[in-house]
Amino acid sequence: AISNETIEFQAEARQLLQLMVHSIYSTKDLFLRELISNSSDALDKLRLAAYRDKDLEVDTSDLHIDLEIDPAQRTLTIRDNGIGMTRDEVVDLIGTIAKSGTGQMLAQLREAREAGGSEEGTAELIGQFGVGFYSSFMVADRVVMVTRKAGTHHGVRWESTGEGTYTVSELPAAPQGTAVTLHLKAEDTEDSLQDFTDPATVRSVVKRYSDFITWPIRMAAERPAPAEGEDDVAAPEPQVVNSGKALWSRPQSEVSAEEYAEFYRHVSHDWREPLETIRLSAEGTFEYQALLFLPSHAPMDLYMRDSKRGVQLYVKRVFIMDECEALIPEYLRFVKGVVDASDLSLNVSREILQQDRQIQLIRRRLVRKVLSTIKSLQEDEKEKYSTLWAEVGRALKEGLLSDQDNQQSILEVCSFASTHDAEELTTLGQYVERMPEGQDAIYYMTGESRAALEHSPHMEAFRAKGYEVLLLTDPIDEVWVDAVPAFQEKNLTSIARGEVDLGGEDIDDDTRQGFESLLSWVATELSDDVKEVRLSHRLTDSAAVLVNDPGDLTPALERMYRAMGQ
Ligand code: ADP
Ligand code: MG
Repeated sequence: AISNETIEFQAEARQLLQLMVHSIYSTKDLFLRELISNSSDALDKLRLAAYRDKDLEVDTSDLHIDLEIDPAQRTLTIRDNGIGMTRDEVVDLIGTIAKSGTGQMLAQLREAREAGGSEEGTAELIGQFGVGFYSSFMVADRVVMVTRKAGTHHGVRWESTGEGTYTVSELPAAPQGTAVTLHLKAEDTEDSLQDFTDPATVRSVVKRYSDFITWPIRMAAERPAPAEGEDDVAAPEPQVVNSGKALWSRPQSEVSAEEYAEFYRHVSHDWREPLETIRLSAEGTFEYQALLFLPSHAPMDLYMRDSKRGVQLYVKRVFIMDECEALIPEYLRFVKGVVDASDLSLNVSREILQQDRQIQLIRRRLVRKVLSTIKSLQEDEKEKYSTLWAEVGRALKEGLLSDQDNQQSILEVCSFASTHDAEELTTLGQYVERMPEGQDAIYYMTGESRAALEHSPHMEAFRAKGYEVLLLTDPIDEVWVDAVPAFQEKNLTSIARGEVDLGGEDIDDDTRQGFESLLSWVATELSDDVKEVRLSHRLTDSAAVLVNDPGDLTPALERMYRAMGQ
């Protein structure tokens, strides 16, 4: 080693590691999935780098992942000949966590613990977050990583027990790629299922979690005992453990739900089951296949500024990029999966993709397919639909503003609280079906809470008339209602605006005259606050109500703009 440095893990990384080191939870075997997944990514990256830079000094003739067991030393090594890391990358990528939502997740975990939360709850939270490389410390008390970045000559050695610090040193040489060696904890021998020095255990874990990985995952076959008179036998060829077929290229009927679920976990870093699997493909001049998933839980970062979009782009089974924003609009960022297009160049950049007509066609089709899938859940699998709506409905509603072309289809899959039912949400379609004779608009009111809206004097005339009112309490509701004029040709109309006409008799002149002096007195008294004071049919119990003019901001929107400093 040329230099040997001891460095402290970043604070958040340290906390996450503590959880791993003292992990109590039972599915420890998923560390292997995480490490294989990292190796698979590293091989993808190397293949692409070599393709783009013909001068890169690398060997791409035999890219693979090797699993090596040493029962005597109690070690398990995961080795790939992929892209590798420089010293600085090791420090940045392994010594810190850059993921958004880390702080939030740790705070939630702490809370759950203090409230005496279950192990399952902990696992759930961690799973949602995806712990990656650190999961090694669930089964190992010491981890050594040797890596060399493609195109460089020195290697880097990283070592840690997961307790606060790690060491890094430079090596004069190292094989291409990355090898992670786990020094397995002793206690794991007590449970045969958890004995990762047993090749059969390791093989079954690989089959279960990583079968679809497209790179060969190899393990040394057991060496047969030497026959009498022989000194030793040659080491047998390593055997490939995984079947390695891209799921999206296999016939739908041949892929099991479990395989889909594992693949979902690989692309989404969400350890739970997907809510729904979507396949689509096109043949002919522009061929592509897509495998998409709807989540059963909102991704951790769904409502954060730099949240990720979840669709990966492949070209003929070759991984090209993560988070391909050209393929899916921002409001569908919760959709995870893969699009494999046949006719793109492996060299495509994000900028080129944004302009590409074929990609725009794929995107349009994906959007329609996702929306129609949600629609059919709404019709046939109500529970799944409700789950989805509760988790990602707010993101979907953003589409009402940003995706004019699909506005009506998005509206169809939205659900809202309404005066019709105290608990059940309603769709606009159901609302329209319930509209009595004579009602020709869809009425809504926006505000802070259901209770506040229900007690609003605006509601009185509508209650008296038996007209249903949508109760919109989400901040984004304030915004989209202005962008959406109508649904099924019924105008969306705020009951808090002045122009609402509920019919009813005209107010006769005598009545008018009787109120004139009162009205002008009120108008003078309140001249700083209101534009006009007038007689109305709107009220049944209250004496007065404040309404907005058609062009005015609603009170909640006013508050929102004010909060944004405008
Ligand atoms: P994630 O995979 O979600 O980014 P990980 O903790 O699993 O999080 O890994 C952190 C980062 O470390 C990876 O994004 C990658 O850049 C790097 N890394 C991990 N393992 C390898 C590997 N075998 N080869 C190259 N880079 C790796
Ligand atoms: Mg990872």
